[in-house]
Amino acid sequence: MNIGIFTERSARFWPQKTAILFRDHAITYAELEKRSNRLAHALLGLGLQKGDRVAIVSPNRPEIIELECALYKAGLVKVALNARLAQNELEDALSNAEPSICFTGPEHQAMIDKATQNGIALAHRFIFSSDETAEDWQDYETLLSRHSDEHIHIDMATDDLAVLHYTSGSTGKLKAAMQTVGNRMASLRKNVMGRMHMQGKEVLLLSGPITHASGMFMQAILYQGGTILLLEKFQPNQVLEAIEKHRATICFVVPAMINALLADPGIKTRDLSSLRLLLYGAAPISPTRIREAWSAFGPVLSQGYGAGETTGGIIALSVEDHRIAIEEGRDELLGACGRISCESEVEVLDEQGNRVKGDEIGEICVRGPDVFAGFWRTPQATADAFDKRGWLRTGDLARMDDAGYIYIVDRRKEMIVTGGFNVYPNEVETVLAQHPALYEACVIGIPDERWGEAVTAVVVLRDGQEASEEEIMTFCRDRLADFKRPRSVAFVDQLPKNANGKLSRKDVREPYWRGRARL
Ligand code: AMP
Repeated sequence: MNIGIFTERSARFWPQKTAILFRDHAITYAELEKRSNRLAHALLGLGLQKGDRVAIVSPNRPEIIELECALYKAGLVKVALNARLAQNELEDALSNAEPSICFTGPEHQAMIDKATQNGIALAHRFIFSSDETAEDWQDYETLLSRHSDEHIHIDMATDDLAVLHYTSGSTGKLKAAMQTVGNRMASLRKNVMGRMHMQGKEVLLLSGPITHASGMFMQAILYQGGTILLLEKFQPNQVLEAIEKHRATICFVVPAMINALLADPGIKTRDLSSLRLLLYGAAPISPTRIREAWSAFGPVLSQGYGAGETTGGIIALSVEDHRIAIEEGRDELLGACGRISCESEVEVLDEQGNRVKGDEIGEICVRGPDVFAGFWRTPQATADAFDKRGWLRTGDLARMDDAGYIYIVDRRKEMIVTGGFNVYPNEVETVLAQHPALYEACVIGIPDERWGEAVTAVVVLRDGQEASEEEIMTFCRDRLADFKRPRSVAFVDQLPKNANGKLSRKDVREPYWRGRARL
């Protein structure tokens, strides 16, 4: 078994079809196959062997996709590092993964140099498209030009390691989820045969970091002979323009990107009729925002829930679910992240490992082929992630209704305990999202002598809008139980996001909890 064989098939049947479109430059399947073969030969020629690790640090660019194909072919392990990591995070990840080779663009050259000065050992450093190659660096194109383009693939077993997926940091210290060949195959199956049913006519627009979650959709596109429309980074006007210009059929975004797209003037003027799926997920979103997006984009919304530990989405709220909820006015359904959409078992279990009933809250747990093999070189984190019966504990607290819809209340660690009551920030944020003057809100618990923690809302106002603290507190008072409503409101210009564009609650909390235990 080897995922790398798929590009050979696509190159055989659709050699002239565009595999990747980047800055109006098209790379055909014939080219992708040849270039990834050259790379695979080159890496094995450097003495790398099956299971060895290769790091990639770069903003989105086609070379990352070529490399991913090459690594599969050569049986090597991709170390996926987010391009927005800080120097110390990058060094932590590199010293944990111990790759012998690193590929990067000019943007990260200085960071990698600094990391090596700080003791990170790298046998080879390759740079994408640089005119002059600095000392200790080798040019990517030169590497490619020296090797054969003949098809190559190393046999892999289901349990072989394919990817070290560094979690985005939303949950604390960086650690790498070990994704096996079997995990990636399960992910491919659900994207090709599952609710998304990705096909050869697809044009998939990706603007978030493809080293991460959204990158998992790429395999399905390459398998089916579709086109990956790649943007260097997310910019709302450019995303809307690219959908119109290249007739994108699928686009993946996180909720913060939906906010930005809805606020962009292009949302009213661009022709977005080619879109058949606007996939969103990776963080909570309010029903209010979903309804706004439904009127702006049309009936194309589909939500996915998943994590690096589940190799992508495992629960989904389909387009049809959205339609029913919106057309029949069933607002509560828009609060669900959906129903099981993978071949693994997904359950909401209580502390004793029993299924929850009715309004009870438990933890989303998963068992099966989508579930990762543990955290790389951090056995304690792996042990903590699984219960004794082998269920992955996602850390997400939820309810499940009789029809199997799962409603996330919050993350285990983000629950606020105030005066003995549990408050789930997500629930309060959903209410704040209904306030017309608010662009974004983050609810946290801050230290409080009397209550232990006090609920606080940190908010960003919409451009040109005003609202006072008192007004926002009154708005919440009318809509939330007394113990849940914010006791104070802080106004900020923007909320901190992590490298994947997700709200970083940890950083919002930091100034309030500095020097104390709970962060
Ligand atoms: P990561 O592994 O960094 O992608 O983070 C995974 C976490 O993101 C999950 O455990 C959830 O807390 C959150 N998440 C993912 N998808 C959703 C969703 N559709 N709704 C709410 N939270 C989500």
